[in-house]
Amino acid sequence: MAPNKFVRAIFPGSFDPITNGHLDVIHRGIKIVDELIIAVGDDPQKEYLFDGQERVEMIRELTNDIPEVKVERFSGLMVDFARRVGAQVILRGLRNLTDVQHEFELALTNRAVGHLETMFIMTGEQYGFTSSTLIREVGRYGGDVSGLIPPSIYKKLKNKLDT
Ligand code: ADP
Repeated sequence: MAPNKFVRAIFPGSFDPITNGHLDVIHRGIKIVDELIIAVGDDPQKEYLFDGQERVEMIRELTNDIPEVKVERFSGLMVDFARRVGAQVILRGLRNLTDVQHEFELALTNRAVGHLETMFIMTGEQYGFTSSTLIREVGRYGGDVSGLIPPSIYKKLKNKLDT
C-alpha cells in the first residue's frame, strides 16, 4: 500500500461469543491498520447462541477503550459490506493448518468476487485451540471455559446456558 494511505480493515466473523483468541487478533491487527471494523455476521439461515445485537454489544463493551475499533453487524456478502464501509482489506485470524485451508479458499473467493485482499494474523500460541464452537459446546456441558473468554462474556454465557 502507498505510504501514508489510511488503511481501513474489516474483521468479519460470527463472534458467538467473542473469545480471547479474537481479542488477540484485534489487538495485534490495530497496530497495523488505521481503523478496524469488527463485522459481526448475522446470517438469517444460521442459528446463533447470542443474537446479533448481543454479539455486537459484547464486543463494543470489550473494545470501547480503542477508538480505532468500530463494531457493526452485517448480513450478506462480506465484500459488499467491505465496499459499503470503504474498507480496503479483510483481516482474518489463523490458528492452525485447518484454518489455513479454509481461509485460503475464502480469501481467493473474496479476491475473485470483490477484488479485496485478505491479511492474516497468526494467533498467540496460547489461543491456538480457542474456538467459539468449542466454548459453546464445553460450556453447555458445564465445563470450565473461564480461561478462554473474558470474565464479562463468561458471565453472559453462563446466564444464557442456564436459562
Ligand atoms: P467464522 O464463523 O467466520 O469462522 P469466527 O467468529 O469463528 O467466525 O472467527 C472469525 C475469525 O477469527 C476467523 O478468521 C477465525 O479464524 C478467527 N479466529 C477464531 N478464533 C481464533 C483464535 N483463537 N485465534 C485467532 N483467530 C481466531
